[in-house]
Amino acid sequence: MRHITILGATGSIGLSTLDVIRRHPERFRVHALTACTRVEDMAILCREFQPVYAVMADANAASQLADAIPELPTTVLSGESGLCQVASSGEVDAVMAAIVGAAGLPPTLAAVRAGKRVLLANKEALVMSGRLFMDAVAESGAELLPIDSEHNAIFQCMPADRVRDPDGAGITRILLTASGGPFREHTEDDLKSVSPAQACAHPNWSMGQKISVDSATLMNKGLELIEACWLFNTEPSRIEVHVHPESIIHSMVEYADGSVLAQLGSPDMRTPIANGLAWPERIDAGVAPLDLFSIGRFHFERPDMDRFPCLRLAAEAFQAGGTAPAVLNAANEEAVAAFLAGDLCFTDIPVIIERTLTATDVVSADSFETIFAKDAEARRFAREQIQLLTV
Ligand code: NAD
Ligand code: MG
Repeated sequence: MRHITILGATGSIGLSTLDVIRRHPERFRVHALTACTRVEDMAILCREFQPVYAVMADANAASQLADAIPELPTTVLSGESGLCQVASSGEVDAVMAAIVGAAGLPPTLAAVRAGKRVLLANKEALVMSGRLFMDAVAESGAELLPIDSEHNAIFQCMPADRVRDPDGAGITRILLTASGGPFREHTEDDLKSVSPAQACAHPNWSMGQKISVDSATLMNKGLELIEACWLFNTEPSRIEVHVHPESIIHSMVEYADGSVLAQLGSPDMRTPIANGLAWPERIDAGVAPLDLFSIGRFHFERPDMDRFPCLRLAAEAFQAGGTAPAVLNAANEEAVAAFLAGDLCFTDIPVIIERTLTATDVVSADSFETIFAKDAEARRFAREQIQLLTV
């Protein structure tokens, strides 16, 4: 029996994780569920899964939750300390890191430092703190398994003992696939007037709002490029983004002998989640079998860096190193929040990020304190710039 903590249980990845767990009561037991403010959703999940702990990041929400579930044995905690406690508890075997954004870094890191099996969906945590995060994994012996569909695909296409040794494994390139998002065929002019609802209507995947906007700007692919560099110990020059609008091939790995291995599947996050939960075993994920006859054809194109500058900005931030990826991430989070609130136009998202990267000097990312300080500095600057551009 594996005891699992789910950080971000009420979100898209959290609910998909619970759906896989629900199918395997003999294998998995929910130790803790966490959320931010959604008390009602959390109360429903607590009644079904009866976790030992439920954590609300927001203190008011925590007291409301405690009032809503007095009949349950569940203890309600709150705040970052509560999140870190259930991520690192000695009673936990595996932690699903599925909080969105920088808020997920402290509890994800707590899970890493406690040497857990860490199922990483929260790519922002790794993008922000790259080397320090991977050093913490190496130091504690945590088992880091990628849940992002592309990275899970790459992981599946590599020899399990050579995931951080591409040269030793004879790997020449990673072919990172991208759907291209809902605006793949929009002109630069069309992009100026797109709405949050249009940006969140992804053609193939149903996801949280922030990652949906990231997919539409291609920042998601930029964050994933950085994520892949850290997870697989490689560099952007050995990763090539392939826009593949069908989203059936989730990524590929090219070897020195010319072989290219791919992982295919329906665009359903329950596949990588089940892979991470049960690895190295395989379990039913509730995913419909792939019907290649009905899909018929696969297409590939190069990403258009002029219409979608975010991918270029992410590659540049990784090359700049140090705190630059944390600044990129912070500016992006602020710009996306402003776009979702109707305060910023879609094509100004990369403008805000580029201005923030230019204005914020890069320093060595030698401690988490430095990274959080740069994150805060970048957010302040990005917010000022958003005010200047507010629609
Ligand atoms: P979501 O918005 O649906 O859910 C986010 C979860 O995080 C919610 O449970 C929310 O309560 C919690 N949360 C939000 N802010 C918080 C805060 N300040 N403190 C504590 N908890 C907070 O997001 P999602 O789509 O499930 O994505 C989660 C993460 O997984 C993101 O990092 C995303 O990039 C990554 N990811 C998602 C998908 C997908 O298909 N949805 C695929 C790959 C990677
Ligand atoms: Mg992905």
